[in-house]
Amino acid sequence: MMPGSLPVNQNIEILENGKTIRDIIDSKIKELDSAENQQPFFVANLDCVLKAHLRWTKNLPRVKPFYAVKCNDKPTVVSMLSALGTGFDCASKGEIQLALSLGVTPDKIIYANPTKPSYHIKYAASQGVDTMTFDNEEELLKISSLHAQAKYSLKKLNLKFGATLSSAGKLLERAAQLGLQVIGVSFHVGCLCTDSLTFKRAIADSRHVFDMAKSLGFKMSLLDIGGGFTGTDQVINESLDEFFPSESGVRIIAEPGRYFVESAFTLAVNVIAKKTVMNETEENSDNTESGPDRTMEYYINDGVFGSISSVLNFPDAVGSSELKYKSVIWGPTCDCIDKVLENYWIPELRVGDWLLMDNAGAYTLSICSDFNNFERALIYFSASADTYNRFMPRTNSLH
Ligand code: PLP
Repeated sequence: MMPGSLPVNQNIEILENGKTIRDIIDSKIKELDSAENQQPFFVANLDCVLKAHLRWTKNLPRVKPFYAVKCNDKPTVVSMLSALGTGFDCASKGEIQLALSLGVTPDKIIYANPTKPSYHIKYAASQGVDTMTFDNEEELLKISSLHAQAKYSLKKLNLKFGATLSSAGKLLERAAQLGLQVIGVSFHVGCLCTDSLTFKRAIADSRHVFDMAKSLGFKMSLLDIGGGFTGTDQVINESLDEFFPSESGVRIIAEPGRYFVESAFTLAVNVIAKKTVMNETEENSDNTESGPDRTMEYYINDGVFGSISSVLNFPDAVGSSELKYKSVIWGPTCDCIDKVLENYWIPELRVGDWLLMDNAGAYTLSICSDFNNFERALIYFSASADTYNRFMPRTNSLH
């Protein structure tokens, strides 16, 4: 992708003359309030994506990131990461289509879903997307019947997917009988992995699978260490150097999602309704906390069927001298599953107030549904002039 070659993207606000993200948020709130159109909205700071990328290349120099598109599939994000040189982990035909439509080349895509519909495999084959994961014999046979050029990466066990170490040997034998190109091992330790020893164990197990594969005649060359990064990189580097030293010639890739986008997005939601529920029991009435006699229930314009299906950081009221009430936050839909937060101690809110949630870029807008036909959150992008000029593809079609 060649930044600078297409018409200027109109949709990114430049952070210049001291303008901050908070200024943009405040001006959007003003605009929406004065238009009486209080929709939820995200403001994204693309500088955070750039910073994450720079941190990655410094801290994990041997590992090439293939961004997990599922985490946040906004074309602006995908295009920027493409301009930064990442590859992409796609889990479906739709994600592959999106990446290709933004100029990503097929060699920079790994189809990393161990269970794939046949017509998605056929689509990948037609587009030259060859590298894909598998974790069972059925999938191996399905892929081989639909995609003659497929290169297979054996997915190791986690909770939902993956072959156990003992079944890996049998699968490799079957692949050898079928004459298939098994080129590597993939694993995903799970999201938000804070125990770096989990990575170490998975890397060591992968070495074992590489050795099994070698004894069966495979020349494996790819290790995919999945997603789940939280910044505990040292153990990963040491484990890679121990089990897959540079001289091994093995190409190391990863599938980070949250790492790149979480901190870049702030979500603003509006309080659309409220209810005061008086506590009736004796037990509750002798509560010495402030606001003991009632629970406040608030309804906001985004919820678990929208952008808040995963837990987000709601603003903290610690330090506020105002009286705090035990509060519950509900999403806007009619389903009682749509409870966003409870046991939340905050000063009383008014209908029309806005709440801001930082670190809202991962598994939020990519999971959003249209349930009850509430509007999805609007998205506003911003970047410093430097980030914009260097890394944003010039097109009007992004959003
Ligand atoms: N790779 C696979 C196979 C996944 O299932 C996921 C998340 O579900 C990821 C990568 C991305 O994980 P994260 O966003 O935690 O980095």
